[in-house]
Amino acid sequence: MKKILFFLMGGIILMSGSCASETKSAKKKVVKPVKPVPVVVETKIEHDKIAGIFTFPGGKLKALVMSFDDGPDQDKRLIEMFDKYGIKGTFHLNSGKFAAKSKTSLDLLKTVYAGHEVSAHSVSHPHLEFLPASKVSNEILDDRKQLEAVFGYPIHGMSYPFGTYNQMVLDMLPSLGIKYSRTVTMDTSFHLPKNLLVWNPTCHSGSGEYWAKKFIETKRDEMMLLFIWGHAWEFDNAATDAAKEKNWAVIDNICVLLAKETDIWPATAMEVADYITAAQDVVTKSPDGMLVNSSEITLWVKSKDKGVKLKPGQKLAIPK
Ligand SMILES: [Zn+2]
Repeated sequence: MKKILFFLMGGIILMSGSCASETKSAKKKVVKPVKPVPVVVETKIEHDKIAGIFTFPGGKLKALVMSFDDGPDQDKRLIEMFDKYGIKGTFHLNSGKFAAKSKTSLDLLKTVYAGHEVSAHSVSHPHLEFLPASKVSNEILDDRKQLEAVFGYPIHGMSYPFGTYNQMVLDMLPSLGIKYSRTVTMDTSFHLPKNLLVWNPTCHSGSGEYWAKKFIETKRDEMMLLFIWGHAWEFDNAATDAAKEKNWAVIDNICVLLAKETDIWPATAMEVADYITAAQDVVTKSPDGMLVNSSEITLWVKSKDKGVKLKPGQKLAIPK
């Protein structure tokens, strides 16, 4: 009982000593008025709002991507057509086919695809979803490496061989340096992709003319995308020369129709993917609500019927 009382008293003495010193120092302090510091909150723009806030480069509201697989010889004729109409192509190649080619013919390939995007399609065109993880990794990484060695620039795009994949493949893609991958599932909405690793094209080239006309007719106050995919060898996949030429005439007409439109940005899949990614990384900063471009590419913000540049590192109020 005596011990408990002793500790209680000790506690009381300590507490009163501490209170006394605080009161002393408080008297010496000169209290300055504190300015309120504005709280800056960075907010990401919701994905669905991106298409309505930005435009494509040059204030354009429409973009066109032409994406062709397998790297057949017919790509050369298709590229000559694209060049004639100022259209850019994205070509997904299987580097396994390079083994039979000489250094000279590989150098020639570089010339054939110049000005267009070369993108991955796996080394040997397997069904990726049936392979173990280590083989998936080899198919994609080795394809990227070999394409980079021939074409001389980083390859970060892909289309799935046969258009198929599973969750394991999807989960692996970012660590394999893939930033977008195209499927073969039609999405005729003309909306921007929600997930660049499951990028559904608008249509196959076989129905390209119909969807190109629809795309031209459709007017929306937001960014729209026409994404046509196919294989250049399909144009020659006919019984007679006349039938083959008819197929080539169809794709030529698609190019004619789209090239006439001044509100369409002809782009590669990687250019559109980079643009969308940069727009997704833009944040609004409170309290003034400014848009901040933290990417390395110039974005365009929609302002009435035109676009206003938002350069890397620049801030801009959302135009009204
Ligand atoms: Zn293929």
